[in-house]
Amino acid sequence: MTEEEHIAEQIRRNIIITTIDKIYNWGRRSSVWPMGFGLACCAFEMICAAASRFDFARFGMEMMRPTPRQADLLIVSGTVTKKMAPQVVRLYDQMPEPKYVLAMGACAISGGPFKDTYNVVNGIDTYLPVDVYVPGCPPRPEALLEGFIKLHQMIEGQTILTSPWYRKEVEREMPVPILGPRGLVLPGEGHE
Ligand code: SF4
Repeated sequence: MTEEEHIAEQIRRNIIITTIDKIYNWGRRSSVWPMGFGLACCAFEMICAAASRFDFARFGMEMMRPTPRQADLLIVSGTVTKKMAPQVVRLYDQMPEPKYVLAMGACAISGGPFKDTYNVVNGIDTYLPVDVYVPGCPPRPEALLEGFIKLHQMIEGQTILTSPWYRKEVEREMPVPILGPRGLVLPGEGHE
């Protein structure tokens, strides 16, 4: 293959991939299915965002599912206690690819008003790959909607060439922490 033919082949391949990406990402970002799952007071704002006044169905997000098997967005809405963190990570692991995590509120982002207390995790991003952070205590529904728009923009910028869920060598299952007598530890780390 000459250099000109090689360049022409690359251009043809890129046109095909970018066209597929555009259609594929449009479909995915237009129908994100969040898991119907709340942890604390922030969950009430999430519920409010789903109701008629804010109506996140306008963003294609109305299909809240009661099972992780049918959801592709985990909204961590509220305080993540050390007792609850293993369940949150397990739910994430049970979601099919591609999947996303949105940390809603100061507690989910950093522990919020309970930071460094004996029973609360200082941010779910210690255990999960968070894609979008929505700050506030609690964030208003408009802030959550803005978080959804950021998630949509992120999905639109992805390509099937580099998406981790198409790469066998990328490990996407997160280790489930274990709650022991001295707090949470990851498997293999042993208790402090
Ligand atoms: S961030 Fe504020 S409103 Fe949200 S769960 Fe924590 S304390 Fe409650």
